Amino acid sequence: MALKFFNTLSRTLQDFVPLDPSGQSVGMYCCGPTVYDFAHIGNWRTFVFSDLVRRTLEFTGKKVQHVMNITDVDDKIIRRVRETNTSLREFTGRYEAAFFEDLKTLSCLLPHTTPRATEHIPEIIALIAKLLEHGLAYKAPDSSVYFSIENYRKSGRQYGQLVKLNFDEMRIGERVRSDEYEKESVADFALWKTRVPEDGNVFWASPWGEGRPGWHIECSAMSMKLLGTSFDLHLGGEDLMFPHHEDEIAQSEGACVQADGKRFVNYWLHGAHLLVESKKMSKSLGNFFTLRELLAKGFTGREIRYLLLTAHYRETFNFTFDGLQGARAALLRIDECLNKLRGLARGTASQPDPEWITRFSLALEDDLNISGAWAAVFDWVRQTNRKLAENTLDTPSASVALATWNKMDSVLGIGSPEEQEVPVEILNLVEARQAARKAKDFKQADTLRDELKAKGWVVEDTPKGARAKKI
Ligand SMILES: [Zn+2]
Repeated sequence: MALKFFNTLSRTLQDFVPLDPSGQSVGMYCCGPTVYDFAHIGNWRTFVFSDLVRRTLEFTGKKVQHVMNITDVDDKIIRRVRETNTSLREFTGRYEAAFFEDLKTLSCLLPHTTPRATEHIPEIIALIAKLLEHGLAYKAPDSSVYFSIENYRKSGRQYGQLVKLNFDEMRIGERVRSDEYEKESVADFALWKTRVPEDGNVFWASPWGEGRPGWHIECSAMSMKLLGTSFDLHLGGEDLMFPHHEDEIAQSEGACVQADGKRFVNYWLHGAHLLVESKKMSKSLGNFFTLRELLAKGFTGREIRYLLLTAHYRETFNFTFDGLQGARAALLRIDECLNKLRGLARGTASQPDPEWITRFSLALEDDLNISGAWAAVFDWVRQTNRKLAENTLDTPSASVALATWNKMDSVLGIGSPEEQEVPVEILNLVEARQAARKAKDFKQADTLRDELKAKGWVVEDTPKGARAKKI
């Protein structure tokens, strides 16, 4: 079966065909955090979903180029910089560092590139200049530059590819300066915002005077710079569909004329909202949680990741504390089974059982049917536990079972507690062994393997490279 995704552009389930003629390389862009505060659990649902997409692509043998931007200048950030009386970099640096820590806590793979908007001002200016050149943008009386929806539509292009828009009530030339606005108020949006006193020291020089970029143009500039003017996948939460993603399409397709009708992005995937205890998250309801607040309540990143991964990405998910307790119990069942298997396998390496892997894979390839994938995992746990109880597992079959788990876990990323505590000394030995193998010095590689074994560790080769496991 081929990998299928629900593409917001076509509103249908489509076979995923990468632009790369060999079908191997995939370019994937995810809208990253706006670093003005700690990311909340709703944000984390989207980032864990992005991680699932990347891991699934890699599981199916694709080579992914994963780009996630850091929005380090926008309306909200400028407001906070003013309120806290700090510099832009000082303010955003703190939340950016916290974001990367949290990403690690949730075992999300680090994107290959994490560009900052403020480090791409020349690219942003060049893109705006192109839009002006194409007659798709104009300078307003205050020197800000706006995107002209009327001209864009007149040029034969479609504004409203991801969402249906009603243009009857749209007033031509009406402008919106704010980065965030509602579908009902579709209007020309700001590409470059001229400097105002409230911006303080946050401004850059441009051909249109001092100012700063709008939020939407940041993503167009960074994604096209790093992935090309046409790439495979763009991900984000459904709240970004309008205006952010719609505006990204208009800016990118308006600036870069595609010779053969190519699109800016071929597949758009959107993750659904998250409720907390059945209600929309809000500070006034007391159900607004950052990841850090949940950790302070005694839950682990692993439990939170597990819970976030139990629902299909296109379904609204109800995050509850009962759910977190359930996650703890489910992980305990998995860990018990794995510990017994480890005891039996005694570090022997093996290949995964293709039957289980096929079942797990078929579920994921069907638009990330995570319930189907978990059903495969828990059937596997049940069957393995039965065999363990009957005492019918010998060392080779326990080793196959562990290899099966590791393969499935390369997508789930929940690991097991032991794996998170590999001492540096062991990691160094694993690295040295890898280097020896790469240099075809197999004698040295074997010596290092024996040394690891003597210290109670074994090296397993996984699709992600070598991994140390306790014997
Ligand atoms: Zn974006």
